[in-house]
Amino acid sequence: MGRFAPSPTGDLHFGSLLAAVASFLQVKSRGGRWLLRVDDIDPPREVPGSADRIISDLRRFGMQPDELVLFQSQRSFSYEAARDVLLEGGLAFWCGCSRSDLPRSGVYPGTCRNGLPAGKIPRAVRLRTGSESVCFEDAIQGPVRENLQETVGDFVIWRADGLPAYQLAVVVDDAFQAVNEVVRGADLLESTARQIYLQGCLGLPTPAYAHHPVAIGEGGKKLSKRFRSDPIAALPPAQALGTALRFLGHKCPQNLGLADLWDWALHHWELARIPRRAQRRTDGQDAGID
Ligand code: GLU
Repeated sequence: MGRFAPSPTGDLHFGSLLAAVASFLQVKSRGGRWLLRVDDIDPPREVPGSADRIISDLRRFGMQPDELVLFQSQRSFSYEAARDVLLEGGLAFWCGCSRSDLPRSGVYPGTCRNGLPAGKIPRAVRLRTGSESVCFEDAIQGPVRENLQETVGDFVIWRADGLPAYQLAVVVDDAFQAVNEVVRGADLLESTARQIYLQGCLGLPTPAYAHHPVAIGEGGKKLSKRFRSDPIAALPPAQALGTALRFLGHKCPQNLGLADLWDWALHHWELARIPRRAQRRTDGQDAGID
């Protein structure tokens, strides 16, 4: 079971299309099911109407989810229940630190892990991290090893503004939806160790992970402003799909119609073809972006 889980913070663009296409092909090419989940747990960042536009753009591309779309905004009770299990088991704790109390490194120094210091009021909930490293094999990026105490420390699972943190919601819902294969952009690779650790704390299964390269170039510059950030709705779907496939290492024939292109992709899809990083051409042009 695979899924695409966009946040409705804007329209579908080339970067998010990559995750949709890669997650779709990875399960569909092997007879699996593909789900669509709208990660709308962050109202302040939401762009009105974008969830509906993402859903209709995916349909226009021919990516139809196999179950009803799940909206995280409807699932608060599950995130609260998971938070309470972790608090009651002593695996998580209330933290009274504000942003200005935290070091610039971003690694939580453990201020409230043994109880709130006098004068602090509970604000956020943090998960107690262990000293052992989290190790996993990413199907595209290879072996990953991360010591959470060194990289982030006890991390937030419930935000000070009363909203569930992304890390908690994604873990609860991937398990709820029986997702066993997560294919998404490499910008989320740095979240994966936290998610695997959280799965262990909640007794939930760990899916297989594959993180495809994201469409940014050296120095974090956008590969192509036009393709990366313009709404994908502006492009003919076959052209955008062909570009996404080539970016993902699949050299599809030119000039196929949408149905034939999907047919080609379903027959030729292999994770092994996806490059670890976005390729750049020696002439300085952006590779894979035509
Ligand atoms: N909703 C997240 C985003 O759009 C992605 C969640 C995920 O794939 O785990 O960045």
